[in-house]
Amino acid sequence: MITDEKIIDRFMDKVLLPTVEGTCWIWTAGLTKKGYGQFKMNRKNHQAHRVSWEIFREEPLIDGLELDHICHCRNCINPSHLRQGDHKENMANLSEAGREVRRENGRKRGRKARGENHGKSKLTEAQVIEIKELLTNTNLSQKEIGKKYGVSRMQISKIKTGRAWSHLNPTINPPSLNDGKDNISS
Ligand SMILES: [Zn+2]
Repeated sequence: MITDEKIIDRFMDKVLLPTVEGTCWIWTAGLTKKGYGQFKMNRKNHQAHRVSWEIFREEPLIDGLELDHICHCRNCINPSHLRQGDHKENMANLSEAGREVRRENGRKRGRKARGENHGKSKLTEAQVIEIKELLTNTNLSQKEIGKKYGVSRMQISKIKTGRAWSHLNPTINPPSLNDGKDNISS
């Protein structure tokens, strides 16, 4: 979580905000070799999209989990375009977009095992929305809901905590840089 207004202002100065709500927020400063935005904070370089998550999203950024762009635009820092997932999920997401990286047999395989087996999810967005409603409005347990949709309890838990499908969260709007300054205690 980043709350320092000075850092947030400095960060947002480097962002080209969209004219159409909900589209990408483009990072205009330096990029890493891989094409992610780069932001210097506390004398260290950080990936800009990760910083954006820490500014705007309430869920903590889990160490070791990759932060994936659902818009597949690496220099975008729109916090509602980001979703946390493990490497395997990220790769699945990439290949869905037809941008499979030839790394299948690469080094990262060692990181696959993460305890519980999650059932392979084939949920549609509509189903995820239904599940969110069931979680909020009924007394069904996560296990029961999982059974109903043929996925593991873990998967339901991830949906509940926002670790999966967080792109279905409502759109987050950028802070207005000129208004709101009066909120800063000086
Ligand atoms: Zn985006």
